[in-house]
Amino acid sequence: MHEEAGGGTGDSARGPPRPQAWPSHSWFHGKITREQAERLLCPPETGLFLVRESTNYPGDYTLCVSCDGKVEHYRIMYHASKLSIDEEVYFENLMQLVEHYTSDADGLCTRLIKPKLMEGTVAAQDEFFRSGWALNMKDLKLLQTIGKGEFGDVMLGDYRGNKVAVKCIKNDATAQAFLAEASVMTQLRHSNLVQLLGVIVEEKGGLYIVTEYMAKGSLVDYLRSRGRSVLGGDCLLKFSLDVCEAMEYLEGNNFVHRDLAARNVLVSEDNVAKVSDFGLTKEASSTQDTGKLPVKWTAPEALREKKFSTKSDVWSFGILLWEIYSFGRVPYPRIPLKDVVPRVEKGYKMDAPDGCPAAVYEVMKNCWHLDAATRPSFLQLREQLEHIKTHELHL
Ligand code: AMP
Repeated sequence: MHEEAGGGTGDSARGPPRPQAWPSHSWFHGKITREQAERLLCPPETGLFLVRESTNYPGDYTLCVSCDGKVEHYRIMYHASKLSIDEEVYFENLMQLVEHYTSDADGLCTRLIKPKLMEGTVAAQDEFFRSGWALNMKDLKLLQTIGKGEFGDVMLGDYRGNKVAVKCIKNDATAQAFLAEASVMTQLRHSNLVQLLGVIVEEKGGLYIVTEYMAKGSLVDYLRSRGRSVLGGDCLLKFSLDVCEAMEYLEGNNFVHRDLAARNVLVSEDNVAKVSDFGLTKEASSTQDTGKLPVKWTAPEALREKKFSTKSDVWSFGILLWEIYSFGRVPYPRIPLKDVVPRVEKGYKMDAPDGCPAAVYEVMKNCWHLDAATRPSFLQLREQLEHIKTHELHL
């Protein structure tokens, strides 16, 4: 038995296990410190528990359990896609682990009896289920894998005769964050946002996010595979406007995307570009080290001080425009990654992609003002792009 500190006594409390009655992952508190966990588990109550991300071992988790007036912290090791406390019993995810130690202490100081619920998420989940966004696994056929993302595999599915995309989320932290965000996401609706159709939460801990199917895949792959010979100026400007309209909508709803990039824009059968992955990205950026952020797309103030805002999305939109007009090239070509931030902080801006209209390059550069307040809003960007379209400055 590996504990983060302190020792257990192996005394197990009694009572029927009932993990299914708890809202999914509600005991998961994300990145809180050992001291915060101890405060949350006060007043002491044997069997009261929560799970947090480990501060000492990034990537691992910690199970904190109140027992006989003190709190024990057990390290949950994450290795080769499996979780274990004692390196004897292994679990696919935290739900399974919690279920196991709810039915039997199995070496812990006590069996898990009562979750310390994370405030806010329970209400969000309740609302989410009440409003009818929970789908039934029986109605869904998973057909084939169509992509691999940061958060898990993406599959083509058939939901009651309609083609859908299904994102299979494996990581508990992501699942928790997604459920917390779900009530916001269900309210977002725009023809240039990939529409959420519903979710399936399995008792075993799996989370499936069902969205509309975007037949032509990610914008970056689309641009690369078709290239200059197929895609004309009209088409590039149309994609730019599609994305800008979605972002204007998010701006109006005070929703910050945080990971806007051509890889997170998808193209439909009828060539409409739609922004995807909103709602998942908040968790990614708030709990990841700034070292893991997509440096080339992220505004300097967001990298430096985690200051994410609509204006940092505007910076990313400028990079996305550059990707569109370079037919899917990786930004800052020929500059080593470690040199990008220092150069950008000194005011360096990428050159216009080959053949990029001057008016479009001006729009890009305006997105890259070091002073966030000076950057245009998405409303202004949309007006500028429409002006370019009307006056045919893009041809
Ligand atoms: P993501 O996890 O969002 O990064 O998705 C990984 C890949 O899966 C994307 O690059 C697409 O090729 C594919 N994909 C994701 N969502 C969809 C969707 N709604 N429709 C079609 N393909 C998708």
